[in-house]
This record gives sequence, C-alpha cells and structure tokens, in this order.
Amino acid sequence: MHLVWHRGDLRIHDHPALTTALSRGPVLGIVVLDESILSGTSARRRAWFYANVQALRESYRQRGGTLLVRKGTPWNVLPELVASTGAEAVHALASYTPYGLLRDQKTEASLHRPLYWHPGCYLYEPGTVSKDDGTPYTVYTPFRKRAQKSPLPEPLPSPTKIESPTTAELGTIPEEASDIPLPDAGESKALELLERFLNGGLAHYHLERDGLDGSGVSRLSVYLTLGVLSPRLAASLAAKRGGPGAESWIRELLWRDFMADLLYHYPHMRTEAFDRRWNDLPWQNDPELFEAWCRAKTGIPVIDAAMRELKTTGWISNRPRMIVAQFLVKHLLLPWQWGEKIFKEWLLDGDTANNLGGWHWAGGLGVDAAPYFRVFNLVTQATKHDPEGSWLRRWHPESGGNPEPVSPLIDIAAARARYLEAAKQLSRRPSDLPAPRDPLRR
Ligand SMILES: Cc1cc2nc3c(=O)[nH]c(=O)nc-3n(C[C@H](O)[C@H](O)[C@H](O)COP(=O)(O)OP(=O)(O)OC[C@H]3O[C@@H](n4cnc5c(N)ncnc54)[C@H](O)[C@@H]3O)c2cc1C
Repeated sequence: MHLVWHRGDLRIHDHPALTTALSRGPVLGIVVLDESILSGTSARRRAWFYANVQALRESYRQRGGTLLVRKGTPWNVLPELVASTGAEAVHALASYTPYGLLRDQKTEASLHRPLYWHPGCYLYEPGTVSKDDGTPYTVYTPFRKRAQKSPLPEPLPSPTKIESPTTAELGTIPEEASDIPLPDAGESKALELLERFLNGGLAHYHLERDGLDGSGVSRLSVYLTLGVLSPRLAASLAAKRGGPGAESWIRELLWRDFMADLLYHYPHMRTEAFDRRWNDLPWQNDPELFEAWCRAKTGIPVIDAAMRELKTTGWISNRPRMIVAQFLVKHLLLPWQWGEKIFKEWLLDGDTANNLGGWHWAGGLGVDAAPYFRVFNLVTQATKHDPEGSWLRRWHPESGGNPEPVSPLIDIAAARARYLEAAKQLSRRPSDLPAPRDPLRR
C-alpha cells in the first residue's frame, strides 16, 4: 500500500503522485492539517481550505477510495501513519516555497520509507528553466521564452477507481465559519468554471483582462492556489483552443511559474526587497495611514473601491491589485510587508510566491524589468480600465462613478514627487541582488 500526501494539490485529476501510486497497488490519500500553516492564516482561508479537503474526500469516495485527515506536523504524523498502515512509500507533488522545502526535508528525514516527489503544481517546475549558464532568470520575458521552447506538459486523466484499505480511521475535517461567502469548493466546480471560461472569456482575454471589474478574466486563481485545478490541464485545454486570447492566458499562467521560480532561488524576497537597494526607501512606519488604506478611507475612489471589494469578496483582479499595492509602496511609502500580509489574509487565492512577487513587481522593488519611475495616475487608471464607471459605482457608490479624489488622505502629487526623488537617489547605487540559492534537490 502507498500513501499519497496531498498538500497544495487538492485534486485527483492530473495528479502524477496519485497516478504513480495507483500503478503500484492500493492507495490511501492523506491530508495533514498543519498547524504551522493553519494557525497563521485567516478564518476565511481556513474555511476555504477545509471545504476543498472535504470535496477531495468526496472525489476519493466516489471512486472507492479513502482520504485520511490528521492534525499535527507532517514530520510527526507521517512516520506514525506509515508505521500504523504498513505503507511501502509516500508520494507527493513537489512544493517549492521556503516553508514547503523545509517541511519536506524534515518529513523525508523522519520517514523510514521512500518519499517520492512528482511534478504537477506548475507548467515548468521551479529550478527547471534556467539560462545557458545554469543561473535563474530574474526577468519574466526571457524566462517565458525559454520555458516555451519546451512543449507544455501533457496532463494525466483522473483515475476512475481508487482501491484503498479500509482499516484506518478517517479523521475529522473541521468546519469553520467564513466572514465572506465562499465559492463552490472542489475540482468538479473548478473544472466547470474552467470549461465556461474556455467557451467564453478566453477568446477575448487579451483584450479584456485589464478591466477593473474582473469580468474579462477566469477567476480560477482560488482553485489554482490550492491545486484544486491543475495548471497543466488548464494550459493544455487553452492551447487546444488556440488564438491570441489563449496565448495571452497561458502567458499569465507562466507568470505563476516565474514567481515560484524567483522565490525558490531568492528566498530573501519574503522579508526584503528583491533588489536590496530598495530596502532603503524612506519608509513611513505610520499605522494610521495603513489603517486608512486597509479600511478604504483614503478619499481616492479607485483605491477605496478596490480595498472594499477585496475585504468583502476575498478577490480582486490583477489591475486593482497592482494599483493599490503600488499606491501603498510609492505614494504612502508604507512598508510593503504590511500590505503583503493583509493581502494574504484577505485574498482567498493568497499564494506565497504570487503574492510576494506581485508586491515586489508592483512596488518596483527590483523584480522584472519594471522601472522604478513608473507611477500610476490614479484617475486615468480608473477611466481607462472602468470607462463606464460601473465598477466604481458598485464599490464606491458615493463617487457616482467619478474617479476624481475628494479630500484625499495625502497630497498625491507631493507624495509622488517624494517617492521619485528618493528612488532616483537609490537607483544610482549598484543593484544588490544576493546570489541565487542552489536548487536543493531534483
Ligand atoms: C500585489 C499583487 C498581489 C497578488 N497576489 C496574488 C496571490 O496571492 N495569489 C495569486 O494567485 N495571484 C496573485 N496575484 C497575481 C494576479 O493578480 C492573480 O493571479 C489574478 O488576478 C487572479 O485572477 P484570475 O484567476 O482571474 O486570473 P487570470 O487572469 O484568469 O489568470 C489565470 C491564472 O494565471 C495566474 N496569474 C495571472 N496573473 C498573474 C500574475 N501577475 N502573477 C502570477 N500569476 C498570475 C494565476 O494563477 C491566475 O489564476 C497578485 C498580483 C499582484 C499585483
């Protein structure tokens, strides 16, 4: 019997670890409710995770299989489970975040059985796309071009039958109330949404993806983040449809790969600016300003609308994410880590690598080729990406759809000038990027 350890891959379709384990005999699925992750996140995100674990158990059950759930740390739970079930080996999809790597090393060391790592969380696994000299890319476009020299991976079908031994106790999946309505959980719902997007928005994605209201995008991130949907299946089905919309959408999925690759090689970006020169911006450690940003009280309609939508729904599209993040870093000069943390709590799709990468990118902290002197105009962003003002009217009715600030919290022009002056000075220093970490395994 083999164990399949599910982490951020709460699905059975396109799951190389499950498929391999099933080819070797009976299988038990296991999810460890890892306190070190769950205690540090918000109720809405825990509720979303539990709902998807429940749906995964149902996917197993419908095929005759069993998904166990245990509370604790993986390096304690898994050796016990291996001993009590007599499992020959454990299989899992590889994870690449700093905590994921540490957890996996500790768990591997704690087991007296082989732990096999499989690809499946990315189109191109972190550490596999590199320059000719073997070093990682730090700019997206050459990363993408290099990645796309290799064909997209072929997704695997869902198993039709899962044979599991029946002796082990199932284990309870907690229920937790969320402060916001949650989307429908589970891979069948994710696959339905993918199908609707492929038949609908995909064809015009390249034209409509920047709308502030998010009507031109897939909204699949909530599923991709927990691996409820396989990015490899999503990309492969989009590629089959073809056309400029599909090409553009696959390029976005490759941003996800790029961000994971960056964090894998440059873990300092969890706490420091990617290019450490930018650590020295004159940060204003002002909790009141931060509170005003969080509570949508800046007096700038596009910022306040986005923050309300984020808090109320757990999701906003990429353009408003960029606008509010850049505003916090460049106009307010508040520590980017504060904004990154609150995003991670409020976003249902909160993802360590994408969120960190998004903050570094939008804040001009050295990720990619984005120049420091690009500062969004907060009115034209709204008129361009919400021309009818309908998104603004929905999330900021008091503006009547007019993006002009009314009694803004700060003098926007002066704040912009303050940032540009400080950034100009720092830009004269040589770039300060630490050496990339060597890939630890695989
Ligand atoms: C400050 C900031 C923070 C962000 N935090 C997160 C986060 O915590 N989790 C998260 O999944 N994404 C994050 N993003 C990236 C992006 O905004 C979301 O992935 C996207 O808005 C999700 O909506 P969607 O599924 O409709 O995307 P689509 O436009 O339909 O794209 C499909 C998928 O491609 C990937 N993708 C799209 N854009 C990006 C991008 N810029 N970077 C990386 N991957 C991308 C996502 O997996 C997304 O689901 C962040 C971006 C910024 C600027």
